[in-house]
Amino acid sequence: MSNLVCYRCGATATFPDRKRCECGEPLWFDTEESASRFSWPDSGTGVWRYADLLPVGSSDRTKPPGGVAAAAGATPLVRAANLDESAGCRLWLKDESENPTGSFKDRGSAVGAAWAARAGKRWLGTVSHGNMAMSVAANAAGIDVNTGNTGDSDREEEGDGLNALVLVPEDISGERLAAIAQYSPEVLRVSGDYGRLYYETLAADSPVEFVNSDTPLRVAGQKTTALEICEAFSPTAPDAIVLPVSSGGHASATWKALRELRAAGLLDADLPRLYFVQAAACDPIAEAYREEAEDVTKTEQSESTVAYSIANADPPSGTRALTAARATGGAVLSVPDDEILDAKADLARKAGFCVEPASATTLAGIRRLADSGELDPDDEVVAVLTGTGFRELDADGEKPEAVELADLPDHLRALAD
Ligand SMILES: *Cc1c(COP(=O)(O)O)cnc(C)c1O
Ligand SMILES: [Zn+2]
Repeated sequence: MSNLVCYRCGATATFPDRKRCECGEPLWFDTEESASRFSWPDSGTGVWRYADLLPVGSSDRTKPPGGVAAAAGATPLVRAANLDESAGCRLWLKDESENPTGSFKDRGSAVGAAWAARAGKRWLGTVSHGNMAMSVAANAAGIDVNTGNTGDSDREEEGDGLNALVLVPEDISGERLAAIAQYSPEVLRVSGDYGRLYYETLAADSPVEFVNSDTPLRVAGQKTTALEICEAFSPTAPDAIVLPVSSGGHASATWKALRELRAAGLLDADLPRLYFVQAAACDPIAEAYREEAEDVTKTEQSESTVAYSIANADPPSGTRALTAARATGGAVLSVPDDEILDAKADLARKAGFCVEPASATTLAGIRRLADSGELDPDDEVVAVLTGTGFRELDADGEKPEAVELADLPDHLRALAD
């Protein structure tokens, strides 16, 4: 039975045998039927609240998997009025750093780990040396393998858990390796074309279930960012949702969420518009948008930008993200590193959020969209802050003023004056 469909040519296929269509584009789960019956749930936490739209099983809504996967999602959505003036709109922030490993990747990893546990898989894999690597390692480590087990046999023996395999580039830094290694996955440093590796891991007969950046399970889990945003705004909708884009997986998932909500009759046709932001140093999707191209093609740009989490010269779901922006009346744009760093500083100084530079591209992009008249001051705009900045603080910054304990009262009085 086919349960995957291609957004572009409509061809169908069966999971987990295939992950990409013969036309070259990525496949996603075909949820048309379940979406048409969907209504806002009255129970369920985190990503499992939307189990009716996930390829795991609706029983997960009332009985979510145990372990860290249960903690994915349900992140705060907050108004950031202090930034309205400089953002040129009414700004909302979706704080994805609240996920267990500090980024939205946990939404897809949690669904991937739950599916793999249920399917009796022994290995969950990914191609990443950043947030996704940590997230897959943590979710595999934490999944309760008896999750959703039909009850015939408990897999309690030592070594019966779900193992994680993380494929990293040969020259990975010690810092990145340490962040991943704490969850004790199997790590392999792979030499050769790291971009090709993504495709090499998608073979149907692989003993490892790979949840790469835009694979069907990951996209299914990552739909829940937008489902949460739309549920919070329901029965109205935000005017725009803005997110950083790299592989195009999260962007595709956001579009998928809107399509499903429309099929369910829970969202009007014209809102929200989807805007995706890249770093100017590496912006193949934005370039295709500017040039009005049909397809995103690999760029020869270097992947060197402060927004390292979104530097992808050959995004596997680039064309799908481009299509999503156009279909919703949005756009794909890029912002230079200095504007990204300004936005990052302002998010901390005026809203209290410490984010990765990749996540700060949203505010930098919103400023450009407001300047060009694409956003109005009374537009409700949600910036998705995709990942925490706590992992990469610069230890060489200027030290603050020092004070003797005995002099502290004088200092406090001086402050208050
Ligand atoms: C992975 C990631 C992105 C990009 O998401 P894609 O689905 O690859 O487009 C953006 N921000 C952060 C912090 C990430 O970890
Ligand atoms: Zn196709």
